[in-house]
Amino acid sequence: MTIFEKIAARQIPASIVHEEDDFLAFHDIQPQAPVHVLIIPKRCIPRVAEAADTDAVLLGRMMLAGRAIAEKLGVLESGYRLVVNNGRDAGESVPHLHIHLLAGRALNWPPG
Ligand code: 5GP
Repeated sequence: MTIFEKIAARQIPASIVHEEDDFLAFHDIQPQAPVHVLIIPKRCIPRVAEAADTDAVLLGRMMLAGRAIAEKLGVLESGYRLVVNNGRDAGESVPHLHIHLLAGRALNWPPG
């Protein structure tokens, strides 16, 4: 099991901010911004390049949930960034697809 599957199964703790039947969102353990949430499917899809056409609705719903999460955490008006790291050069470190939601400060562009 990936560490994120264990979080989804409540085998290890996380600060959950949003949950639906097939995905959930929780605060990152090492936040890179005042708000740093990870949105993950409960079922392990290793990375976005390995998602199937049948995952399209799930991935779209995860992305759209960013709005409700941002609203709940008070950053909807100030703005938020959604990031998906796919593979080594992108900085992927957990092989379980996740969308980073970063907010709460002005974020640099382009990212490093
Ligand atoms: P990646 O580098 O794969 O795009 O992002 C993985 C993220 O998962 C990192 O931001 C890292 O801090 C976070 N992370 C790794 N292990 C844990 C954990 O056990 N709990 C939580 N909440 N976040 C984790």
